[in-house]
Amino acid sequence: MNYRHAFHAGNFADLLKHAVLTALVGALRARPGPLAIVDTHAGAGVYDLRGEAAAKTGEGEAGVGRLMRDAAAPGAFDALKAAVAALNPNGKTRFYPGSPILLTAAQRPGDSYLGCEIRADDNAALRIALKQRRGAAVTSADGWRTAVEQAARGRGRLLVLIDPPFERPDDYAQIVATVAEVRAQRRDAVIAVWLPIKDLATYDSFLGDLEDAAAPAPTTIAEVRLRPLSDPMKMNGCAMALVGAPAGVAAAADEAGQWIARTLGEPGAVAQVTVLGD
Ligand code: SAM
Repeated sequence: MNYRHAFHAGNFADLLKHAVLTALVGALRARPGPLAIVDTHAGAGVYDLRGEAAAKTGEGEAGVGRLMRDAAAPGAFDALKAAVAALNPNGKTRFYPGSPILLTAAQRPGDSYLGCEIRADDNAALRIALKQRRGAAVTSADGWRTAVEQAARGRGRLLVLIDPPFERPDDYAQIVATVAEVRAQRRDAVIAVWLPIKDLATYDSFLGDLEDAAAPAPTTIAEVRLRPLSDPMKMNGCAMALVGAPAGVAAAADEAGQWIARTLGEPGAVAQVTVLGD
């Protein structure tokens, strides 16, 4: 397991993922009834943008550093900005909140969060980051398996975030299988998947498979391309795929994507939100 999210925390891809995620969880918590969340690939929880890893790439400074300096950034980033501000009371953007912090920020009585992280160092950091959070738990068990087990076990509302490192060739197949199995256990489970965009062939073929696995639930795709996809070796963009998400989330996703393309993109950058099957 080589991937460490510390190198990439707060980059453009995290900004899209986390703006969409905060909009999604906000919309789900606006409805009555407890919400259980499974974060299949949780990471370390909090990232130090002045740490060695983040400083090496500068991705966080180029992403969230830029966002926090933009007072006119759209409202879709408000929840993320508030979480960043809460971690940095002196006003300097040093610490960045990962999905576990964002997803547990406003848990209500009865809500729960389970973060899966198999790296021992990041798992230990995550336990510390979530120590004070009501209803939050951490496991070192495999995230793919845990999502299906949790879906089989409970009965209430379920949100699953799938955010693998894409280091393994079978990550795409694992996503499709997990979406199908979770939805087979829980027909109304909402599932959010983060995806890199490198080349169109891989991306399009995966979206076709995801649409089939999620059917009949609609799948909303919020994507940003920072540049035309001319070099498939680069991460040219990213997307959040939302299965069964409330309709209102699309507007926030579009707002966030447009800001990222406009502010962080190269010539030819674009953002769009589409609903598969429409
Ligand atoms: N979701 C996090 C966020 O938004 O802040 C970032 C997660 S990072 C992209 C992926 C994480 O998944 C890494 O920390 C990696 O160690 C972990 N991981 C990889 N395979 C896993 C597995 N099978 N089960 C649980 N965690 C895994």
